[in-house]
Amino acid sequence: QVIFKGYIERAPKETDMEIKITKVDLHAPKGPSSFLVKNLYLSCDPYMRGRMRHSFDSYIPPFVPGQAIDGFGVSKVVDSDNPDFKPGDLISGFTGWEEYSLIQKPQQLRKIQPDDDIPLSYHVGLLGMPGLTAYAGFYEVCSPKKGEYVFVSAASGAVGQLVGQLAKLHGCYVVGSAGSGQKVDLLKSKLGFDEAFNYNEEPDLDATLKRCFPQGIDIYFDNVGGEMLDAALVNMRIHGRVAVCGMVSQHGHYDPQGIHNLFSLVRKRITMKGFLQSDYLHLYPQFMEHVISNYKQGKIVYIEDMNEGLESAPAAFTGLFSGKNVGKQVVCVARE
Ligand code: NDP
Repeated sequence: QVIFKGYIERAPKETDMEIKITKVDLHAPKGPSSFLVKNLYLSCDPYMRGRMRHSFDSYIPPFVPGQAIDGFGVSKVVDSDNPDFKPGDLISGFTGWEEYSLIQKPQQLRKIQPDDDIPLSYHVGLLGMPGLTAYAGFYEVCSPKKGEYVFVSAASGAVGQLVGQLAKLHGCYVVGSAGSGQKVDLLKSKLGFDEAFNYNEEPDLDATLKRCFPQGIDIYFDNVGGEMLDAALVNMRIHGRVAVCGMVSQHGHYDPQGIHNLFSLVRKRITMKGFLQSDYLHLYPQFMEHVISNYKQGKIVYIEDMNEGLESAPAAFTGLFSGKNVGKQVVCVARE
């Protein structure tokens, strides 16, 4: 198991978690509707940093010190007292950061129909929570129109890479920002972005955005907040839309005084809307259909960063906050 040691105020470190060996009796009675799963793939997501803080005003409860971390995963049922979940069934949803988990709230889970053309791990990425975030955020929050100018930050990540590709499929002009030259290359060569830049090499983000969008930005899909949001605001076009998806640059040191350009909202009649993917769960069937169909036609690709072994989970997770991950960060605990 990966145990959460105790609450923190700063950025997470590997030493905030520890590996503990516990014995599991695979066939012990589980209680009504409970079942035991073997965890195959675990998802590392930026929101989990908020769960490491005791006082964080979040939409999800904090982790419990001394207990295994929990999050999205793909798992296989190995023993069950629940007639709806039989040994061998594959599921995705909330599970523990451990080799085996006892699932007591099966309503949070989705059954996976195995498909030889789709890697199982995609159910925590392209076809999981990050995928729905991209889909709902782009189509529902941004109200995109063909030909519009779209900017995406953290563009090579789990959410951003799909937002950019959906925008291209929609006929938009798309620019992405990322934190390294390698990521910028991927955005342009593999993910189909029209333009991309490494924000670490751009000392004046306002000038960079003016260079990339001489005509202004219609849609900004914001994954990072902070200085990038501030620079995007002054470069928005009239009636532009900003989808506030996340503020990964701000966790732990949110400073509202860092934003100077809010008056752009008034001057340019911009709509800026925060959203949570969990408000859009009803879109799951149409999201799956759209993404799977485009993926199978080769019109969408998905980049994963796969760490091997449960022991690698703390490093994989903390790497999200220094941009170590290239694509969706997943931990492979077991392949079957
Ligand atoms: P990513 O796969 O994009 O991984 C995080 C990335 O954030 C890093 O790779 C890094 O990319 C970037 N980053 C880290 N620290 C900073 C920093 N200080 N400044 C700028 N960029 C930084 O994560 P996700 O795609 O899973 O999540 C992207 C955003 O979406 C997050 O803010 C997350 O909280 C949010 N989110 C919101 C949801 C919702 O329902 N609203 C649901 C899911 C995610 P780089 O090297 O390019 O800087």
